[in-house]
Amino acid sequence: MNRINLMKLRKIQEGRVKVWISERDTYEAPIFFNPEAELNRDISVCALQTFQKKSKLKLNVLDALSATGIRGLRYTKEISGIKSVTLNDKNSVAFKIIKKNIKENRLKKKCIATNKDANILMRENVFNVIDLDPFGSPNIFMDSAARSIYHKGFLAVTATDTAPLSGTYPEACFKKYGIKSIRSEFYPELGIRILISFIMLILARYDRAFVPLLSLATRHYFRVFGKIEHVGRIKDLLKEFGYVNYCPTCGYRSLGKIESSHRYHIFRNCGPVYLGNINDRKFCKNVFKELKKRKFRLKKEEERLLNFLVEESAMPAFYFDLHHVGKVLKIPIPKTEEVMRKLKKKGYRVSRTHFCLTAIKTDADFEKLKKIISQ
Ligand code: SAH
Repeated sequence: MNRINLMKLRKIQEGRVKVWISERDTYEAPIFFNPEAELNRDISVCALQTFQKKSKLKLNVLDALSATGIRGLRYTKEISGIKSVTLNDKNSVAFKIIKKNIKENRLKKKCIATNKDANILMRENVFNVIDLDPFGSPNIFMDSAARSIYHKGFLAVTATDTAPLSGTYPEACFKKYGIKSIRSEFYPELGIRILISFIMLILARYDRAFVPLLSLATRHYFRVFGKIEHVGRIKDLLKEFGYVNYCPTCGYRSLGKIESSHRYHIFRNCGPVYLGNINDRKFCKNVFKELKKRKFRLKKEEERLLNFLVEESAMPAFYFDLHHVGKVLKIPIPKTEEVMRKLKKKGYRVSRTHFCLTAIKTDADFEKLKKIISQ
């Protein structure tokens, strides 16, 4: 008996596609569908369109872990400049639903459904764009993606294992990503930087430079978009790797030398991790423009998020959570706007950050920030 016939399905609409999903709840469903990833998919549509317009490539896209097919179907329907989209899942029931959903949206001309292990499929083909959106860590797909990605391509990666990446389970992070994590007050940014570092290092082995263009963290997942550049760019990226020393008691952190006044603190250190730019201002602005043109259900929230990404792009790595600083200094928690104003007045660069709403990014160091807050 065909298992798809035994499964109760219901039809939903997201963006400009209609898809059949399992009637059961997200984590019990035989085929995975997460309604909470709508924002992820909306931003992905805009990011991919932005890349397509800049590169002028006719894209052949791989949605490597497709489940219902919703992501790849949306790319096909909502993005111009697409040659073909391969929707792949190794699960045979998912494969059947993907085919049903392609038919439902009349996208047979551009969509190809495949039922393979994603690693095998990637080893056998080259794609301009690869989207890895697994449930859990993308780590086991990265080598194959590095082999499969076109040398001027675009890579989009999701990780839902935010706890290991962010320092809750440092051993698990080291095992999966080969990078040491720590618990810190800036944990989501550290987590996403570890993911980016991992992608860069794996791709570098295959002579591909991964240049991050847009990176975002939500409570449930990290998502990173980047373009592939020529081998010569790798050394510039590797130069931006370093180690983070962090004192959990006072919140002092250093990306290199530890100042003498802090030398007796007990530090946690982490790395090696990429400390360069993770949001390209121009790219994020163009994604914002793409978003403006579209009628997404979550548009307001997405515009707010992209505003943050533009604002924090080109700011130094990591942020100061003013709640934490207030606690350390044992003073009332300072008002964010007030601290930002004072820092600007002293000539420092300062921004808010999507990672934490009570935090700021600045080029002032911890001691200067403390002084300004205490005044
Ligand atoms: N990207 C989807 C969600 C994917 S969930 C969305 O946006 O809704 C992860 C999917 O990966 C599952 O359907 C699972 O069957 C599939 N999967 C897991 N390991 C795989 C592998 N090695 N090759 C291909 N598919 C795989």
